[in-house]
Amino acid sequence: MESINLQLIPHTMEDCIYLDHAASTPCLPEVVEAMMPFFTLHPGNPGSIVHKAGKHAARVVKESRETIASVLGAAPHEIFFTSGATEAINMAIKGIALAGEKGHLITCATEHSAVLQTCRSLELQGYRLTVLPVDANGCIQPGSLEAAITEDTRLVAVMHANNETGVMHNLQPVGEICNRYGIPFVCDATQTIGKIPFHPADFGIDCCCFAAHKFYGPKGIGALYFNTSGRVTRLLPLIEGGAQESGLRSGTLHVAGIAGMATALRTLENKAEAFRIFRENCAYFETRLSAMQGIILNGSPVLRVPGITSASFRYLEGGPLLVSLNTKLCVSSGSSCSSGSGKASHVLTAMGHGLQQAMAGIRFSPGLHTSREEIDRALLHIEKSLEQLRQESQTWKMFHTGGIKPVASWFHPLDV
Ligand code: PLP
Repeated sequence: MESINLQLIPHTMEDCIYLDHAASTPCLPEVVEAMMPFFTLHPGNPGSIVHKAGKHAARVVKESRETIASVLGAAPHEIFFTSGATEAINMAIKGIALAGEKGHLITCATEHSAVLQTCRSLELQGYRLTVLPVDANGCIQPGSLEAAITEDTRLVAVMHANNETGVMHNLQPVGEICNRYGIPFVCDATQTIGKIPFHPADFGIDCCCFAAHKFYGPKGIGALYFNTSGRVTRLLPLIEGGAQESGLRSGTLHVAGIAGMATALRTLENKAEAFRIFRENCAYFETRLSAMQGIILNGSPVLRVPGITSASFRYLEGGPLLVSLNTKLCVSSGSSCSSGSGKASHVLTAMGHGLQQAMAGIRFSPGLHTSREEIDRALLHIEKSLEQLRQESQTWKMFHTGGIKPVASWFHPLDV
């Protein structure tokens, strides 16, 4: 069999600098190495424990579950494998809601569509939904959460790091309020896990969702952390069949993916120096970017996860700018699922940005392998793109020469 070069790091595409790690990351070589035998040498189904191959697969799943649990400060029986974060989110929100009486759900305006659409679909089935607003920094006010709680509130779903802006909600008060009222707390930590240490139990989270492809693991595998001794006594299973994962998620387990996810988390734990350089590179990128003319960095300057920078450029439409930037870069506008949709970002809109401003957000997302040299080249390309597009923009010229003030659709909440 032909061997593959595990040293190849896929982000080094010859003619483009990959700055979209919030959408997906390349697998670490260690991850590919850990997964390979399960495509070829070890075909066992972890459910078939009557023979050696099945037992081997079951052992790998068990050890991987233990690794993932230990990185999250959880117990192995609290980790349930899924196909990704979307499935884990559906499993938690619908699982809690549908296990009992219809009632009231609370979420936040800047959540990923996996959470918002799941809540809206329950709303169509007769549940009441409160969507909490955020401030100009993208943060919820704990007071608004407490005020929204009713006698029949069935769950609160608040994410940690936002996928468009990187803004991290302060989860401590959210967890405390949920605890005080005895309400299940569901948290989408897809953009946090693997980037910074995160223990769901520290925040009183009952269900926490994540996916391996956001932290240098493979696509098609994720997990739900479910505190089985907490406030949630039962999740209604959405996928029924062979009763795998304690009956909560039937279907043959993706052994290669599970081994890859565990290897990614374990490997990242030993990359303190790479993370230090990564954070330095991200800070350098933002400092240089924010020095450019007419730029607005979206979201709290302090409460942000490293590796996600959202920026809007005054008087430049998001679409043409994205096309121009992506001749040499790989960046997206907002979230990966809405990128290119031509719609205003619901996250920036919720933060109080005007329509055009909310349509012009670009997300830059460097990763662990992005070099300083690539960042410098990316910055140069951004500058050139801005210069070229602005030469063609009458509105920019008028704004730049003081001829016009920011018009309403280009309104930024922090404009005076
Ligand atoms: N939640 C957040 C915050 C995300 O960024 C994403 C992916 O973009 C998801 C959920 C959905 O993840 P997946 O597409 O892996 O199911």
